[in-house]
Amino acid sequence: MKIVVIGAGPAGLTAAYELLTKGTDIEVIVLEESNCFGGISKTVNYKGNRMDMGGHRFFSKDERVNEWWQNMLPMQGARSKDDLLLERSISLAENGPDPEKTDIVMLLRRRVSRIFFDSKFYDYPISLKPATFANMGLLNTLKVGFSYIGSVFHKLPEDNLENFYINRFGRKLYSMFFEYYTENLWGRHPSEIDASWGAQRVKGLSIIAILKDVFGKIFSKKNRKVETSLIEEFKYPKLGPGELWEITADKIKELGGTILMNSEVVGIHKDVQNEQGKEIVTGVRYIQDGKEFDIKADYVISSMPLKDLIVGMNDVPSDVKRVAEGLPYRDYMTLGVLVSKLKIQNKTQMTTVGNIVPDCWVYVQDRSVKMGRFQIYNNWSPYMVADLENTIWIGLEYFCQEGDDFWNKNEEEFAKVGIEEMVKIGIIESKDDVLDYHMEKVKKAYPAYFDTYNEIDKVVDYINTIDNLFCVGRNGQHRYNNLDHSMVTSFEAVKDILEGVTDKSNVWNVNTEKEYHEEKESKNEEKQK
Ligand SMILES: Cc1cc2nc3c(=O)[nH]c(=O)nc-3n(C[C@H](O)[C@H](O)[C@H](O)COP(=O)(O)OP(=O)(O)OC[C@H]3O[C@@H](n4cnc5c(N)ncnc54)[C@H](O)[C@@H]3O)c2cc1C
Repeated sequence: MKIVVIGAGPAGLTAAYELLTKGTDIEVIVLEESNCFGGISKTVNYKGNRMDMGGHRFFSKDERVNEWWQNMLPMQGARSKDDLLLERSISLAENGPDPEKTDIVMLLRRRVSRIFFDSKFYDYPISLKPATFANMGLLNTLKVGFSYIGSVFHKLPEDNLENFYINRFGRKLYSMFFEYYTENLWGRHPSEIDASWGAQRVKGLSIIAILKDVFGKIFSKKNRKVETSLIEEFKYPKLGPGELWEITADKIKELGGTILMNSEVVGIHKDVQNEQGKEIVTGVRYIQDGKEFDIKADYVISSMPLKDLIVGMNDVPSDVKRVAEGLPYRDYMTLGVLVSKLKIQNKTQMTTVGNIVPDCWVYVQDRSVKMGRFQIYNNWSPYMVADLENTIWIGLEYFCQEGDDFWNKNEEEFAKVGIEEMVKIGIIESKDDVLDYHMEKVKKAYPAYFDTYNEIDKVVDYINTIDNLFCVGRNGQHRYNNLDHSMVTSFEAVKDILEGVTDKSNVWNVNTEKEYHEEKESKNEEKQK
C-alpha cells in the first residue's frame, strides 16, 4: 500500500511515523513544500540564537501524545543551565537525561506570561488581585466592576466574539484587554468574528473561573483543576519545538519512509471508482525544482491548507469550491531582536539569569503600537540563546495579511518598525541596545473563523465522500488546532486507514470536545524538589 502524506509539520510527520511503526508493508512518502521540518512548529537557528514561531508550549491532556513526546524526547532528569546558575530546584524525572550533556531532552518550564498595557504588567489571564486594581486605578476598577455586574444580569446573544467576551468579562474589561488585541490579531473587529474562536481559546475562562482559581489556590493546593490559560508549567524541547520534528523526520527515514523536501503539492487527482459515481483520490502532483511530478497513491493524508487542497482538485462541485476558496487565514511576521539589556524591570519574586523579566511571552495591548506580542526566548529554554548570560533574545510578533504593506516589508523596514516600537513602549531604552536582528514570515499561521467559515461543513461533507483522503492538522482541517490536536488527528486517521474504516468523524471530532484541552488535573506543582 502506498500512502502519500502532504506536509512535514507535526500532523504530517506524526502520520508518517505512525504508519511506519503501526502498519506493515506500507510505503510512505512525505511531500513538503519548504526546506525544513515542523511547519509552524519549526525552530529557526540564527547564528546560534533560536526562534520559535509564536512560542510553542507542549501541553496535552491526551496521554498518547505525552507518551509520544516522552519516546522522542525524554523528560529532563537533571537541571538545565539557568536552574544551575540560579541554584533553582525543579521537578526532575528519575533517570531522565541531563540537558547539560545531551540535546535529546524535553525540559519542564515555568509558564509566565503577562499582558503589557499602558507600560504596566497585568496577569494573563487578568487576575483579581490588589496589583491589578492598583495598576488600573480606582475609577477603572469601579467601571470594570459595574460593567461586569451589568453583564451578569444582561446576557447578550453569543452570535459573535465580542458578545462572547462581554458576557464573561463585562464590557469595560473586554474593551481594555480583548477588543484591540483581537482586532489586531485577526484584522477584523470581534463583532465580525464567530464566537467559536473564543470558545476554542478561552473556554471555561471568565471572571467566575478566575475567582474560583484565586479561592482554589487559597483553600486547596492539591489536585485543583486548572482552566485553559492558567496552566503553570509546560514541556519544551531543549532546542525549541522544531527539534522534536527533526528527530521524528530522522526516525521516519530510518524506518524506510521517504521525505521529499521543496516539493509543493499543487494537484490532487480524483477518479470515479464505481457506477454509483463514487470518487477516490488516485494520486497527487507536486513541483520540485520547477519540474512537475505525478505520484500515485492508495491513500492521501493531507495537512496542507484545506483551501489549497480543494483548489488543487479536479471536478469539485462549484459550491464546495466557493466555500473553500473563501476560507480566510491570518499571517504572521516575527523579528528576532538580540539586545544587551532591557528597560522593563523584573519586579516579581521570580529569579532569572540577568534578572530579566521572567515572562516567556507578553501580550502587548497598547493601542499605540502594532506589535501583538513579544517572546523572551531566554525564558523558554536557556539553550535557545547563544550567550545566555550577556544577551536577551526577543521575538517581536506582528499579525498581518499575506501581500499587504506590512507583509511586503523587507527585513530592514520591519526591523525599523519593531525596534522603534520596542523603544516606544519601553521594552528597551534605545535602539543602540540592539545587537542584531532577524526576520521570519509565516504564511497562514492562523486559520480564521469568518467569511465562508460558517459553511465549512459543505467542504468537510464533500471530503468525507472520498474514502481514501484524510485531512489532518491545523490548516488541514481549518481549525484552531494546537500541536497535540494536530497530532491526534493523525493518530485517528492512521487508525482508520489501518482498520479500513471510512467514517472519518473521529478525525474531524478532535478538539471539539466540551472541556478545553488544557483543562487537566495539575499534579506536578506539589512535586517541587
Ligand atoms: C503563533 C502560534 C503559536 C502557537 N502556539 C502553540 C502552543 O503554544 N502550543 C501548541 O500546542 N500549539 C501551538 N500552535 C499551533 C501549532 O503551531 C500547530 O498546531 C501545528 O504546527 C500544526 O501542525 P500541522 O502539521 O497541522 O501544520 P503546519 O505546522 O502548518 O505544517 C504544515 C506543513 O505542510 C506544508 N505544506 C503546506 N502546503 C503544502 C503543499 N501544498 N505541499 C507540500 N507541503 C505543504 C507546510 O510547509 C508545513 O511544513 C501555535 C501556532 C501559532 C501560529
